[in-house]
Amino acid sequence: HVQLCSAVGARCTCSSRYNSCISFHCFPADNAARQQWLAKIQRDNFTPNRDTRVCSRHFLPGDIVLTLGKRLLKRGAVPVLFEWNNYSSHEPRPSFHEHTASALRLL
Ligand SMILES: [Zn+2]
Repeated sequence: HVQLCSAVGARCTCSSRYNSCISFHCFPADNAARQQWLAKIQRDNFTPNRDTRVCSRHFLPGDIVLTLGKRLLKRGAVPVLFEWNNYSSHEPRPSFHEHTASALRLL
């Protein structure tokens, strides 16, 4: 079963078929948390279902924990790294050059 990342607004082309080092995460069951995810994903007319996945590239490294060989999200983790925000939501805001460099590192 090939999993696809739903972050199309970020033009993410992640697929489990081609990239085995990323993980895919379901939307949270909690409605408030789902709204936070949707706000970040920025897709119009998009309703997540139980098959909707967001890949690990959109989460901060510290939000993903390795448990018994599985990559799981920390409680309360929200995907924050998207192309529309240049993969950078870190504070304090880096200068332009640092900004570009950190985006490249994540690619
Ligand atoms: Zn993705």
